Amino acid sequence: MLNENGAEHKALGMQDKSSWFENDVRERFLRYVQIWTTSDRHSKTKPSSQNQFELARLLMSELGGFGVQDITLTEACYVIARIPATAGHENVPSVGFLAHLDTAPDESGENVKPRVHENYNGGVIELEQGTRLDPEEYPALRNYEGQTIISSDGTTLLGADNKAGISAIMTALRYIYENPEYPHGPFEVVFTSDEEVGRGTEDLPLADLNSEFCYTIDGGSEGTIEYECFNAYSATVKFTGHVIHPGTARGRLVNAVTMSGTFLSMLPRNESPEATDGRFGFYCPVEARADFGSAELHLILRDFEMSELERRVAFLHTLARSVEQSFPGGKVEVEISAQYLNMRTAIEQRPEIIEAAANAVRSTGMEPVFHSIRGGTDGARLTEMGVPTPNIFCGAQNMHGRQEWVAVRSMARAAKTVVNILSELCKR
Ligand SMILES: [Zn+2]
Repeated sequence: MLNENGAEHKALGMQDKSSWFENDVRERFLRYVQIWTTSDRHSKTKPSSQNQFELARLLMSELGGFGVQDITLTEACYVIARIPATAGHENVPSVGFLAHLDTAPDESGENVKPRVHENYNGGVIELEQGTRLDPEEYPALRNYEGQTIISSDGTTLLGADNKAGISAIMTALRYIYENPEYPHGPFEVVFTSDEEVGRGTEDLPLADLNSEFCYTIDGGSEGTIEYECFNAYSATVKFTGHVIHPGTARGRLVNAVTMSGTFLSMLPRNESPEATDGRFGFYCPVEARADFGSAELHLILRDFEMSELERRVAFLHTLARSVEQSFPGGKVEVEISAQYLNMRTAIEQRPEIIEAAANAVRSTGMEPVFHSIRGGTDGARLTEMGVPTPNIFCGAQNMHGRQEWVAVRSMARAAKTVVNILSELCKR
């Protein structure tokens, strides 16, 4: 296809340069996952863990090695790289690609020893400590018979969420720098810290970003494009008891351990993550601390519909009153804070952003798959701040657990999709 300047627009198809992309992204991914970047939800500092800087610094030096000139590492551990347009495409709107440096604190991400399964035979993969990848349980594995897939050794998570996304973006960048004839407008690459603890955009210098829209490369299966996510609240429930020696406690002790347990047992089990899927939301207790005198529960509340989320907030308040009534003298307080909002409404007002991604996925040889995210991304927060940011696949599967895995082919296709989005945007 020719644009008004007569330059040819290219797209990287399914077969184009596949071994180059697969080799580059694989080697990169194996290097990144071995760097410990677990974030810490208890930390008040930014970044929440200093070790995220190690990966950030490595990426800084690799970006410099490609020839990227404008690179910044902020105090809050964001890597921001700006890439100027190729000649004739200076007026194409600037776009950003985002991925996060940290891995989820739910499972250890220290000392990750990736295992490469070449020519995967389609069977059960037995890892250490009884961790298994069984296609019966994880049917996505069946799509990768004969492919190279990467898992952890079974004792830690892998960190494909989101180092598969970082790798895809880095491979795309290297390709663009080594193939300067490939057309693109100006674009930015942002690697964020602390996404997994909900603080990914907290100190992002938004005013310094040029992009009017972005894509996070943080989705799962090949071809996935997501622009709907949960509305998300978190709740802290504080229980105050009354401490008396248990031997003389009759009629006087108010046990905060029991109060918090009572509260927990009254949460509807059919509205838990383990009992819901599709468009149903949930309550999920994520942490508990308790002794005689005081206890604290942390919960997350999720739903695609705001009205349902508000209904759950109201129910938590009802529960709190009900527990107070059954423990005279005890006190229960509920604090709610907003985490992120469903980005659908804002993104639907800019259909061309989704269209560019869908066309890029098609030119890479896949059918776009539209999903609603049962979670959130940095993109949801950015969308709220006025920068529409849908999410695109990076290939990571079973995120956050020891069963996490990724196919090299998926990461290579994510990298090509990034390159193809840039080319798509030049057509406008
Ligand atoms: Zn992620």
